[in-house]
Amino acid sequence: MPARNRLTGQVVLITGASSGFGADAARLFAREGCRVALTARRMDRLQAVAGEITAAGGEAGVFQLDVAELQQVEDVIQAIVDTYGRIDILFNNAGFGRLDWLENLDSEREIADMIAVNLTGLIQVTRTVLPHMLRRRSGHIINMSSIAGWIAAPLYSIYAATKFGIRAFTESLRREVRHFGIHVSGIYPGGAATEFSRHTGDSSVKRAVRLPSWLRMTSESVARQVVRLAKRPRPTVILPGWMLPVIFFASHFPRLTDWILVQGVKRLHRLPEE
Ligand code: NDP
Repeated sequence: MPARNRLTGQVVLITGASSGFGADAARLFAREGCRVALTARRMDRLQAVAGEITAAGGEAGVFQLDVAELQQVEDVIQAIVDTYGRIDILFNNAGFGRLDWLENLDSEREIADMIAVNLTGLIQVTRTVLPHMLRRRSGHIINMSSIAGWIAAPLYSIYAATKFGIRAFTESLRREVRHFGIHVSGIYPGGAATEFSRHTGDSSVKRAVRLPSWLRMTSESVARQVVRLAKRPRPTVILPGWMLPVIFFASHFPRLTDWILVQGVKRLHRLPEE
């Protein structure tokens, strides 16, 4: 039995709970005694995570959800509220990144989809959950952004645009709803070992933007920070901590930052084919 604490009995909705940070956060929230509603597109993976949680004595439900489909968002959130009676914590985590030269990214499959999932999807899920939290004058919305929400590296143009967008959305909404008892937090991790890199593309570009393994965090260490944030709401969590001075440097010395990042891609550069 999990020890009682301020998270015990809370209902947590997680998007993108079928792998990586979402799946690990689901396991950890359940261990804290939360009831977790797991959502994503891959039902087999969600069921496997839920199976582990229930086998360990926790409580988990699975709901198939593509966050880019507004009707599904509305139906699934209603189903979750019908099942659990409320949503205390929303962990907006679903997302992916395709990293490449802008002209190589497919307009529909890559550019439009990345914006639809990472940014519009997160906004629509939040907008649908929010009235339930407002009615109860309580709740915590945790939005997964990235270090790419602070520093826009070359080849990350669209991904960084979605993650900067999440930061802006998070900051505005926090100021909009704090007065009504609702916390809104942004979490901004650097590179971590998850299935994320399977979707970033496959090219010299991918190899160039890949962090060495010793610099990558584990998925569970990021998930632990999400649970910690839920226990003690704060506006912003940047991971790992040493990225804070890097972000400070990038925002105060933009020309030097440009120079450093341009050196990184110079050796890769090529013009689009005629
Ligand atoms: P994973 O690829 O392991 O997880 C991504 C999750 O998002 C999966 O559960 C996937 O589920 C879900 N997802 C993708 N598209 C959709 C969709 N259309 N609708 C619903 N769910 C979707 O990677 P991570 O755990 O690393 O990624 C989680 C979040 O963390 C992302 O937002 C990512 O941008 C962010 N992030 C990742 C970092 C990293 O280095 N790993 C660093 C900083 C931020 P399914 O395919 O089953 O739908």
